[in-house]
Order: sequence, then C-alpha cells, then structure tokens
Amino acid sequence: MNYEFWLIVGSQFLYGNEVLETVDTRAKEIAKKLSEVLPYPVVYKVTAKTNKEVTDTVREANYRNECAGIITWCHTFSPSKMWIDGIRDLNKPWCHFATQYNVEIPNEEIDMDFMNLNQAAHGDREHGFIGARLRKPRKVIAGHWTDERVHKRLSDWMKSAVGAAVSRDMKVMRFGDNMREVAVTEGDKVEAQIKLGWQVNTWAVGDLVKEMGSVTEEEIDSLMEVYKSSYDIATDNTDAIRYQAKEEIAIKKMMDREGCRAFSNTFQDLYGMEQLPGLASQHLMALGYGYGGEGDWKVSALTAIMKAMGKGGNGSSAFMEDYTYHLVEGQEYSLGAHMLEVCPSLAEGRPRIETHHLGIGMNEKDPARLVFEGKAGKGIVASLIDMGGRLRLIVQDIECVKPIMPMPNLPVARVMWRAMPDLLTGVECWITAGGAHHTVLSYDVTAEMMRDWANMMDIEFVHISKETTPAKLEDELFIKDLAWKLR
Ligand code: MN
Repeated sequence: MNYEFWLIVGSQFLYGNEVLETVDTRAKEIAKKLSEVLPYPVVYKVTAKTNKEVTDTVREANYRNECAGIITWCHTFSPSKMWIDGIRDLNKPWCHFATQYNVEIPNEEIDMDFMNLNQAAHGDREHGFIGARLRKPRKVIAGHWTDERVHKRLSDWMKSAVGAAVSRDMKVMRFGDNMREVAVTEGDKVEAQIKLGWQVNTWAVGDLVKEMGSVTEEEIDSLMEVYKSSYDIATDNTDAIRYQAKEEIAIKKMMDREGCRAFSNTFQDLYGMEQLPGLASQHLMALGYGYGGEGDWKVSALTAIMKAMGKGGNGSSAFMEDYTYHLVEGQEYSLGAHMLEVCPSLAEGRPRIETHHLGIGMNEKDPARLVFEGKAGKGIVASLIDMGGRLRLIVQDIECVKPIMPMPNLPVARVMWRAMPDLLTGVECWITAGGAHHTVLSYDVTAEMMRDWANMMDIEFVHISKETTPAKLEDELFIKDLAWKLR
C-alpha cells in the first residue's frame, strides 16, 4: 500500500476571499515542502470553512485505505464547533500540527491585516480545545514547517500511523498452539482483533508439510542463491540449508496465499518436519514478516508492525528473548538470543549460516541457522501482554553494546544490552510491569513512536526509561489499573 497523509487547514469566511486564497496557496506550499522531506506524501485537501467541508473530508479519509492519517492546522481562527461532527467520526490517526507560515514577526510590516491572516497561535488553541473536549487521541506537534526537528517528529508520527494501518490489516498464521503451560504468550484473540485489528488464525502443520512436499528443486536452488549472496556459508551440510529453504518457501507460499504478514510455530508441534525452521524463519523476518516462537502470536504481529514502522518500511526490529545476565558490578548486561530465530536485521556485519544440534523439540536433523552479533546502539524492547480485559504495551529503553565476550560455543545469534535505568533496576521495573521474556527489539523505532501507536490503538502504554524508579512505576501501574477498569 502506498500510504499518504491528508492536510486539512482550518479557516472561516470572516476574513474575505483574498485571505482564503492566500491560505490555500500557502497550504499547497507547505504540503509540497513536507512531501519532499517526510517519508510519506502530504496531500493538501481543503481549507475548511464549514462543518460540511470538515465532515466530508474526514469521511473520505476514513474510507480511503491509502490515507494513513490526517494532519490539521489552523492558519487563521477556525471556530471549532464546525469540527465537532468530523472529529467525532474520525477513525484515522490525527496529528494537530501547530505551525505558522512565517518564522519571524515582521517588525515594520505588522498591522491588523497581518494579524488576521497569521493567527495560528490563536486558531490552534481553539482547535486544540475541541480535540481535548472530545477526548480524541491525537498527536500535537508544534514548530515551524521548515524546521528539521519538526520534520523528524512528523516523520516519526507518520511511521506510527502507518504502524496503525498495518496493524488494522494484520493477519497472523499460527502453526500449532502456544507452548504448553506458558502464560505470557497467551491472550484474547478477540480483544486483539477488536483493538488492534489482528486476524489470528490457525493452520495445520500437516498442511505445511504437504506444501513443503510440492516445493521444487529449482525453487530451492534459487533461494540458495539468495542465501549465498546475503550470508557466509560456514557449514558443509548443504542438505540442512536446502531443507530450511524448502521450509521457507512453503511457509511463505501459505502466508502470501492468505495475505498473512506474520506467523508463529512451536517446537512442540513439528509433526512431519525434520527440523524446526531456523534459517527459514530468520530469512522470512529479514523480508519483513513477523515471527514469534512457541506460538507467541502477539510478539509475531508486533514484530511485523514495528518492522513496517522502521527505516524504509522494513527496519531493524526483531523477535527477541531475554536469556541470561552478566552481573559483574559495573558491567551488568542482558544477553538476548533465541533457540534459532533471531532476525539478521539486527546484525553487525555479515551473518554466517551454521548447523548445530538442537536439543529442544522434535529435531531429527541439525537445523541450519544464522549466527551473528547484534549491533551496538540505542534501542528499545517492547512487550505486549494481556492483562485480562485489556492489553498493556511495555516499552523499555536499552543501550546495545558489542558483546563483551566472543562466546565461541554459543551456536545462535546474540545481542547484548543494558536496560534503563540500569540493568537491575530495569529488570525490577520490567518484572513489576509484567513484561514477557519475548520482546520485539528495535534499533529504529523509538519509545515515543510506540506511545503514539498505543494511543492510536487505544491500549495501555508503560514506558521504562532512565527516569523510571520502581516506586514511581508501582504507583503508575496502580493508577492505570483503576483508570482502565473505569473505561
Ligand atoms: Mn522463546
């Protein structure tokens, strides 16, 4: 989908045609400039002067799949009662962009005509009131339309809005159920569809095995070429790699046929398969598909959404699992990995394809997997949990480092990081909030983007940052629990 955003400018008839023509010309200029610097086009739709112009444009925005959100701004004063019906009916993300045409107050020129034309400071306050009065979720961004800091914030908001659109369109293919007895990977799929739009359904592992049976040697040959061009092959066991290619092709065919962007499987249900998909899942993630291990459909869908919110529509975001800690004082780190399935979009350098024995699950043969170290840099981990009656999104700021030791016998990809505010306090906060061991780790989606996404989806958001203390967090969770029960 080629997403775009619609600009609706507020005004009224009071100032005469000349002013309205100027507003119209400037709105076009601003939309053109923003389209040049933002990741998605801004399409100027209307300078609204009546209730009908607002509601007609909003209803069209609701109906058009390509419209991922609306941006509003009041160049002049725009009485807000005329916005009530439109904003009430709006079901797309909304950004109130409080900008103004000029940067400076022109000392010599300024007179009452200038004041009437350039009164965003005035008009945007009236516009802000009606958003607050209607309790409508919205992002307010203030600043000049040529300012790069403003572009960055608008760009991030757009990506969150695209994340909302991708979420509403999300279909998850489940092979097998959740891992037996595990609690945090469970969840209310009906609630997830109501709030997030996710269609989460199951397909038989037997159907996947049948699909694998019809994959041709030629199809495998051509995927092997892709593997060779992307990764270093550090194993003589070509059969194991070819088997992963066969699994990947079959999973992809089934997902594409059903329009699924994410999948989950479990090592406890591989009936008829020789290996848990390792390399297969990793390469599918590299292509932008979401994945969750042990039947974790929540983390799978969230991975696909956060990938879509990242750089170029397929960013550095991946299914991750907290495994073990390094607790030496002054160098406390978390080591994240998975049995096999870590997305190479996190990799520093070129991943290697290796084969090793996998003790967990029904693996008749050693599965091929990509092995690499994660990049250093700032990031987040995100976990979506079902609190019973509502979903809670927990996001923690992290600082990834080059792993401080080589770990030559660890046969899987690994990422090392320090959680904020420090490892141990961060662990206490994460556990207090109920965050899962499965997360989506991202280098290019920020906590603010996830907060905006949670607001768009109307779910609870908890952020653990360098400012968080366990005591403040406990109070926050207590208050939010009460607030969400009242809704
Ligand atoms: Mn796991």
